[in-house]
Amino acid sequence: MNEWTRCVVSPEVSHEGFASLAVPVFRASTIPFADAKAYATRRERGEEGYSYGLYGTPTSRTLEKKITALHGGVRTLLAPSGQAAISITMLQLLAQGDRVLIPDTVYPPVRDFADTDLARLGIETRYYDPTDLTALAALIDDRTRLVWIESPGSTTMEVQDMSAIADLAHQRGALVGCDNTWASPLYFKPLRHGADIVIEALTKFFGGHSDVLMGSLTVKDPAVATRIRAGLGRMGIGVSPDDCSLVLRGMETMALRMDHGARVARRLIERLQSHRLVRRVLYPALPGSPGHELWKRDFNGASGVFSVVFTEKATPHVFAALDTLKAFAIGASWGGTRSLAAPMPVRAVRSVRAWTEPDTVLRLSVGLEDEDDLAADIDRFLDYLEQHCPANTLR
Ligand SMILES: *Cc1c(COP(=O)(O)O)cnc(C)c1O
Repeated sequence: MNEWTRCVVSPEVSHEGFASLAVPVFRASTIPFADAKAYATRRERGEEGYSYGLYGTPTSRTLEKKITALHGGVRTLLAPSGQAAISITMLQLLAQGDRVLIPDTVYPPVRDFADTDLARLGIETRYYDPTDLTALAALIDDRTRLVWIESPGSTTMEVQDMSAIADLAHQRGALVGCDNTWASPLYFKPLRHGADIVIEALTKFFGGHSDVLMGSLTVKDPAVATRIRAGLGRMGIGVSPDDCSLVLRGMETMALRMDHGARVARRLIERLQSHRLVRRVLYPALPGSPGHELWKRDFNGASGVFSVVFTEKATPHVFAALDTLKAFAIGASWGGTRSLAAPMPVRAVRSVRAWTEPDTVLRLSVGLEDEDDLAADIDRFLDYLEQHCPANTLR
């Protein structure tokens, strides 16, 4: 072998006696075949076979299998973001003339996708009140191919009656998809409550460090997976093994991080709830939060993400009060090691039931900082509101 060749062909080394507790990162576009026959018959090996990096590597398959097992599904597919997992699912399951039902409280970019791209393709979206089963039942018709669920809803945290909605949808032959990002499979398993497809934004609790974007979709019918997988291939969408490795690493500490977030969230919520400038805290684990009884029936836990509605008087000062925060970072997303505060407008992203409470709801996500530092942040934030809303001018 000449030197130029030696530079590009790697020698075999023994793996004998070597093991690692980490999942190896296998990078590949080309996957070479043992011989000409193996190449010629590559399509006969089914979906488990390896043929090209886009269609999976041992690293991505390991992540897929771990998620499938947690959800009790049959197959998981990965997408470059949570939003991509949702939009790809909808694109592959819907065709011109179909109708999709989406909760009014959906993650706002999904509303944008439905109103722009699905509409352009002649797919009709009807939004529904996530807490009104009767109204939902009236919207399901024979053209309805998919009922989407996001439980709890974005920002306002309404828990949906998953099994009742699935029954209604299945009676009319529609599939049910659920965005389970808030709970993760540790706290809720939609496939066990009637959903056909569950998506996770792995960007959040799975990745856990605010440094990777990825999404997953897990199904219980292999035929649905085959359909969506073929679509992913045609659209040329895949994920990087390095990113999968980051998610695999994050996933190992997910249970501890989520457990911690829930515990500290409770403490912060107690502080907030008793304050005269807080109107209410939206958090499924709190009695009085919309759908609390459903949460108790269906969920195993609550993550450390919740929303705070302030009084009319205090709400205009919420933006400026953010600058008093030292431990919380200001930013979108959640599920990382850093606690986050994000002021969210609600009125503009509701079309079925108008949001009549003060607009700009503060969404908080608890990370791994010292909990006394986080509590001190909440106190500073509330003190700022106090200073700008003295008690005698209240309400
Ligand atoms: C963040 C999020 C998404 C989108 O995930 P990305 O990976 O950021 O695209 C979808 N749904 C919910 C509920 C989310 O919180």
